[in-house]
Amino acid sequence: MKNYLTASISASAVRHNIALVRERIAPGTKLCPVVKDDCYGHGMDVLYSVLAGLVDGFAVASPHEALALRRRGYKGFILCLLSAYFDELEVQDDLVRQSITQTVMSNTALASIRAAAERVGAAARVHLKVDTGMGRLGVPVGQAVDLIDAIHELADVELTGIYTHFATADEADKTTTLYQLEQFRSIIPKAGDLVVHAANSAAVIDLPEAHFDMVRLGIALYGYHPSEGLAHGLDLKPCMEVSAQLIAVKHLSKGSRSGYGLTHEYTRDSRVGIVPIGYGDGYFRNLSNQALVRINGKDAPVCGRVSMDQMTVDVTDIPDAKVGDKVEIISSNPAAPNSVENLARLAGTIPYEITCHLGHNIRHVLVD
Ligand SMILES: *Cc1c(COP(=O)(O)O)cnc(C)c1O
Repeated sequence: MKNYLTASISASAVRHNIALVRERIAPGTKLCPVVKDDCYGHGMDVLYSVLAGLVDGFAVASPHEALALRRRGYKGFILCLLSAYFDELEVQDDLVRQSITQTVMSNTALASIRAAAERVGAAARVHLKVDTGMGRLGVPVGQAVDLIDAIHELADVELTGIYTHFATADEADKTTTLYQLEQFRSIIPKAGDLVVHAANSAAVIDLPEAHFDMVRLGIALYGYHPSEGLAHGLDLKPCMEVSAQLIAVKHLSKGSRSGYGLTHEYTRDSRVGIVPIGYGDGYFRNLSNQALVRINGKDAPVCGRVSMDQMTVDVTDIPDAKVGDKVEIISSNPAAPNSVENLARLAGTIPYEITCHLGHNIRHVLVD
């Protein structure tokens, strides 16, 4: 971890986003935050204490993340969206021992979950995932009811929920999503008394009829919209600011260039600042010569190519900029040019990828 890179995570912004979503969903609907990939890069170490008392469970991707939540002392519902694979027998057993709800998405997965339950001597809890059109994990709709019946027959596997995932809920045209919803609905009456869930952030915002018993809230929890089309769906507050400090400031005369490939030429005598972040820290290389950072409240354009762990910014118009000054790399103001959503647009990607990439080398601290 690089101590000089800081992600300041705002507890009040996360609480605000949760409150907005609670208003949007029906009172009895459970709110299950999706905290995979270390809370989309925002840091479980800082967010756990904020979230634990406000939510009705957690959804994670890997067994490792699920078990880590138990080690933190979380005793409630944990849904693991993937399973333990192949030779990870010890992990499979721990998931059963720790009452982590696993996803059954195939007969093979069911067989290995059953085997773990037998070894441990306790019932495994599972949710069944149905592929209603995403074409990824999940049992086909046509096999779901048979599988539900088969699981109900098993003494050592307890089916407590059923879910699906939408492929295009963030798009304005809901035709495909509504088709997926209809497919999912065709199974629900045959599912018995199970926790039914389908909604990701996009469906939380834009498709109330898909909220069912629980919503799986990912990106919106952290304060970003799942797509530009949904940008006005909820008044979300981004919860992260990323900062570093200027480690050097130098003069480069008119006509000088900087960075690999010397892709930027200074058209005037310039002052250039060096910022210790690069693509190795998750700052996208294709932001080179495009993005800007903020120093002392002013814009400093990224000049030349972003390197692995440093980049240069033009501070000619910020005469007071000096070594040690704070560099705001990501702003928590959604309208700022260096907001997560705006950087995602510049880099040709989505907010999810921006925050996940930044999460790895950075020190997370909780503010307000
Ligand atoms: C990641 C994920 C979510 C959350 O999606 P967002 O768009 O971030 O809200 C929900 N469900 C499943 C199955 C996921 O993998």
